[in-house]
Formats: sequence, structure tokens, C-alpha cells
Amino acid sequence: MVLSTGTISLKAPEGSKAIVVKNLYLSCDPYMRSRMTKSDKPSYVPSYNPGSAITGFGVAKVVDSDHSKFKEGDLVWGMTGWEEYSLITNPDTLFKIENTDVPLSYYTGLLGMPGMTAYVGFYEVCSPKKGENVFISAASGAVGQLVGQFAKLMGCYVVGSAGSKEKVNLLKSKFGFDAAFNYKEEQDLDAALKSYFPEGIDIYFENVGGKMLDAVLLNMKLHGRIAVCGMISQYNLEKPEGVHNLLNVIGKRIRMEGFLVFDYFHLYPKFLDLIIPNIKEGKITYVEDTAEGLHNAPGALIGLFTGRNVGKQVVVVAPV
Ligand code: NDP
Repeated sequence: MVLSTGTISLKAPEGSKAIVVKNLYLSCDPYMRSRMTKSDKPSYVPSYNPGSAITGFGVAKVVDSDHSKFKEGDLVWGMTGWEEYSLITNPDTLFKIENTDVPLSYYTGLLGMPGMTAYVGFYEVCSPKKGENVFISAASGAVGQLVGQFAKLMGCYVVGSAGSKEKVNLLKSKFGFDAAFNYKEEQDLDAALKSYFPEGIDIYFENVGGKMLDAVLLNMKLHGRIAVCGMISQYNLEKPEGVHNLLNVIGKRIRMEGFLVFDYFHLYPKFLDLIIPNIKEGKITYVEDTAEGLHNAPGALIGLFTGRNVGKQVVVVAPV
């Protein structure tokens, strides 16, 4: 619902248990693409409704509340609208922001849904051990940059792939990856992976799918784990590409597990306990790519699918 200060009062209807928020930062996330397709197939997120503002994760300030848990001035993150003000009819899904001595925009990324994705994907799904060999695709993005840093904190050997020289440099110089390569410049992904992992890969954090997954399957170690977080290379295809090397899953006893962060939000307090001290001590860093203004939000979202973003793509709707 689009609310305009000029025409509609910014009041939560009495008895509605709703709140009205002013949106400050919006998060551009790859899963939003799937919501733009009308599909009769079952999906974990509903399609967008043409004519209504699209929804997504964001950071917002409560301007009016009819809900006992929220009061005017509270800062929250969670599902909101791509609009200046939103009426949130189910505010129980929102998280109240208690730690405000970090950049608020972090609650779209590092301290929000992508951060949680990296946390549960790595610690819960990958079953990592010190000294293991970890490979991450789309490694400089919102999720990938954090997975790499978690793996380094655990004492793993970490290699990432990304789509530009700038991103590759960032992985090595800022996020502490042991090595990184530009997958767009590699003619032979299998050979590239063999050169970085002569003994094979223990953990693959899968963000892209397609040819990369096929090459990784050839390079996994016995009892390796693949956390299937996303397959962004497939999201705009009418027909997903085939994967040819799946037989390796049997011979190498690979555990390949898809996961959705939405199933793990109960772990959010545990995640904050881990991450906040690490941010304050400078052990975890985070790179954001900021688009200014709601009018630049669609371009920023589309940019995820061409790799235009360097780091977490955030949209600033209103200065704090
Ligand atoms: P990013 O910040 O990493 O942005 C997307 C990046 O994907 C681009 O910058 C680009 O980087 C890369 N990319 C785009 N198109 C292609 C392509 N055709 N082939 C290879 N790489 C491509 O996004 P996120 O960190 O937010 O998301 C990463 C992945 O995690 C996505 O697949 C997403 O769907 C998934 N995800 C899954 C969740 C879950 O619960 N399972 C929750 C959140 C995210 P480059 O320049 O390096 O190519």
C-alpha cells in the first residue's frame, strides 16, 4: 500500500495491531526475481501483485503503532514495502533493532537476512572443521563475503570466485581469502579449481549453480559437503541448465543440502551474539554498494543479475 503524507494520515488503524513505518534502507536480494514471475508451481514465497508496491527486506522507523510490542521511534528490520512509508499489518514478523552503534544499513545485509544466510549456511549446513578446504562462488556478494570470513575465522583454506578484477582484489585484500579468481576469465573451470585445490574441496558454498556447480562436482573430496544456498545463474533462464556431473555425489559420498534461511530465524539472537563482538573487534568487515533514492531501486535490483553490485546492494530511501 502506498501511503503519501499529503493524502493519507500516517496512522495505524485502531484495533488493527498494525504499525506504520518510514522506510530508511531497502535490501536488493536475488530471490525477489522469482517473485516477479507468475507461476502455478509451489514456491516458498508468493509472487508480487501487479499494481501493489513490491515487498522486500528493509530497515525502517516506526512512526505510529497499534501494536503493544512497538512504539513510535523504534527501529526495525524485516519485510517492508518499496515505498516511502508502509503499513505493516503483521509486525510480529519484524525484528526490533537493539544495537544501534553499528551502521543501520547493516540490517539489510551483515546483520539481516543475508548475514543470517551466511551464518546458518556455513555453521549449520556445511559442518565445517578447522583446516578444511572451502570454495565459495559469488564470493564478494552480500552472503559470500561473510561466508569467507567465517571460514577464515575457523582456520580453513578459503578460495572465492567473482566476476571482476575489482571483486577478486577485494576478496584477497579486504576479506582475507587465501586466493580468488575471476570465473569470467577462466576457459576451463575444472582446471582452475584443480590449481587452487590440488587435494580437492571439502566444502562448497553454492551461490551460482550451472557450469560452476558442474566443475565443483569434479573437484569435491570424499565426504565433502555442498551447501546449496542459491543458483543465481539460473534465475533468468526459461529452462535451467542441466548438471552433468551429479554421479560424483554417490562415488564421493557428498552431502549436498539445500537450505532456506527462513527456517532458521530462531537462531538470530545466537547469530548476533557471535557477530556483534566480531564487528566491534574488527574481525569481521562488510562492503556495501549503495544506491541513492527509491527511483534507483529497480536498477539496483536488476544489477544483481549482471554483477554490477560490489558487495551488499542497499538502497537508501531516507537519510537517518
Ligand atoms: P550478491 O550480493 O552475491 O549479488 C549477486 C551476485 O551474483 C552478483 O553480484 C554476481 O557477482 C553474481 N552473479 C549474477 N549473475 C551471475 C551468473 N549468471 N553467474 C554467476 N554469478 C552471477 O547476492 P546475495 O549474496 O544476496 O545472494 C547470493 C546467493 O545466495 C544467491 O543465489 C541468492 O539467491 C542466495 N540466497 C539464498 C538464501 C537462502 O535462504 N537459501 C538467502 C539469501 C540469498 P559476480 O560479479 O561475482 O558474478
